[in-house]
Amino acid sequence: MDSLWDFPDYDEHELVQFVTDRESGLRALISVHSTRLGPAAGGVRFWHYARTGDAVADVLRLSRGMSYKNAMAGLPLGGGKAVILADERRSKTPAMLAAYGRAIERLGGSYVTAEDVGMSVADLVAISNETRFVAGLPAGEGEVGGDPGPHTSYGVYLGVRAAAERALGRDSLAGLHIAIQGAGSVAGGLARRAAADGARLSIADIDPARAQALASEVGGAVVAPEDILFLEADIVSPNALGAILDEATIPKLRAPVVAGGANNQLATPEDGNRVQQRGILYAPDYVINAGGIINVSTEYLRDGDESVVRQRIEGIPGRLNRIWDESIATGRNPADVADAMARRLIGRD
Ligand code: NAD
Repeated sequence: MDSLWDFPDYDEHELVQFVTDRESGLRALISVHSTRLGPAAGGVRFWHYARTGDAVADVLRLSRGMSYKNAMAGLPLGGGKAVILADERRSKTPAMLAAYGRAIERLGGSYVTAEDVGMSVADLVAISNETRFVAGLPAGEGEVGGDPGPHTSYGVYLGVRAAAERALGRDSLAGLHIAIQGAGSVAGGLARRAAADGARLSIADIDPARAQALASEVGGAVVAPEDILFLEADIVSPNALGAILDEATIPKLRAPVVAGGANNQLATPEDGNRVQQRGILYAPDYVINAGGIINVSTEYLRDGDESVVRQRIEGIPGRLNRIWDESIATGRNPADVADAMARRLIGRD
């Protein structure tokens, strides 16, 4: 196996910690890419990895991604991530969560943990019994916190509007046809706002009941999951899985804009060039989907109320436009431009 230093996303991580707790059986990795802008923040993933090396690769890739995302969102936070290595049955015990919380506490605040795949708000509450360095906890009425999904949706909606203005010269979504992949939390919020603006929506989800329920609510049409990306729409908005833009799918896209909240939409960096060469405007995913982390950050740092969260999310269109401007000026694709901007912000250029 490669040494840690040779992993493609090692990229001078400030700290990578391997955690073992014999009594609870916890095995976890905590990874801090950069604390240049503040404590490293990012979720903890509970996942079964076939090989330990896969967990190392995942945590390094994700924590670097959080550095970029937090920097581009203008937050005083660095980037980090953790993974708990689940067994094949994915057994998760209170003792394991407590041991994980103690490991976070020992880091003294250089890493702040939050929810990611396989973890629930209840799990975070359990972790918060052992450490202060946790965010994404339930919020009381009028408090900042709770589910980041609606905040992510709001930012994605604003980003979709910015893309429509940029690529199509339209100052509203009225009359535009938007193909939405996914009918979950982020997609749902986007669909409701876009429908209220008068957009025509096509919606696909691998869960047909979910797609149908959202389509009925917003007056949209259900489309087969395998067709949604390739519709002749004005905008394609991926809000389900990652790695959906690749060598095979990009040539088949027929919409002039791809703007949505799904993480890691480009399968490889080269796919950013492929999208650009097709003349399609792309909204870098971690910039357009930062609404959730903006909410989490404001909760954790206690540096604003709901109106401040809103205002911060409303900075997303300006950031996208700066990226698109630089993309035109330099000829580099928007994803590369965003990465380079983020690296400058964290002092890694
Ligand atoms: P969700 O689980 O609520 O919804 C995802 C939906 O996608 C589900 O309904 C699922 O059935 C569907 N889906 C899965 N594979 C699909 C496929 N091949 N075709 C069509 N539909 C498919 O998740 P969410 O919170 O809405 O997140 C959606 C995306 O946005 C994810 O990529 C997530 O990482 C990203 N994201 C979410 C947030 C947030 O705050 N929730 C923040 C940043 C990024």
